Amino acid sequence: MADEGWVELGPGVFRRRYAALDQGICAILADDALLLVDTRATFTEADELLADLRHLAPLPVTHVVNTHAHFDHVFGNARFVPAETWAHERCARRLREDGERLRGEAIAWARTGGPGMAALVEGLAGVRIVPPDHTVGDDGAVLEIGGRLVELHHLGRGHTDGDLVVAVPDAGVIASGDLVEEGAPPSFEDSFPLEWPDTLDAIAALARSMAEGAGAPAIAPGHGAVVDVAFVERQALALRAVAATARACHAEGLTAGDAARRVDLPPAVAAVAVARAYAQLDGHI
Ligand SMILES: [Zn+2]
Repeated sequence: MADEGWVELGPGVFRRRYAALDQGICAILADDALLLVDTRATFTEADELLADLRHLAPLPVTHVVNTHAHFDHVFGNARFVPAETWAHERCARRLREDGERLRGEAIAWARTGGPGMAALVEGLAGVRIVPPDHTVGDDGAVLEIGGRLVELHHLGRGHTDGDLVVAVPDAGVIASGDLVEEGAPPSFEDSFPLEWPDTLDAIAALARSMAEGAGAPAIAPGHGAVVDVAFVERQALALRAVAATARACHAEGLTAGDAARRVDLPPAVAAVAVARAYAQLDGHI
């Protein structure tokens, strides 16, 4: 992937795509403020981001939004203190109460990536986990930063139970976190597969409402390339099919393994998706 540097998605809203995990980070600029969406996985990565921000604007990072509690979105937080750091209250609680378990899971996952991930393993071990200090509930919030309105929406459970979607209406940009995934299958480990399609529909509806009077909104996923509303609608349909298959197989009494073979996803991804759907259907999550 060629380094494109910062790409302006709408007036004063920039995104930079990093080779590490093919992650995309958004920066929202205002008169005397800068809001950053997610902080990357390690202090090394966060420091690279800080250096890149210096090329973008001579502004301190005044606000951070964590889209959800996964390590690659939150473990860089410490590097942006004293910025106000916002997240859904369930994301914040998870980092406060379960941060070390999240670190352990991240390190275990990175170790499966082989020697190429050694730096990530080391970086994850060295992170000081800083939970968000400002939280929102399911009703979301509107922040005013430097005279600009930035909306934080919780549109339902999906990729996790505490996903936030960041919308900048005056720029026509939505940062979706990992609710939308481009370039790889969605990640289901902490997901709620039965509700995720509705949450994606809500993102599409939000984008369509923002499009009235302006151009087509840009939707910036947590990983991969920027997408449009049609992409989100296709992903909603695909995940609705996964949920429907899981429901039907569960009703028939099929095992999760048998159900996973009927789902149109790579086998390892399907196994996790169906396991989570079955856990929902069985009332375990
Ligand atoms: Zn994630």
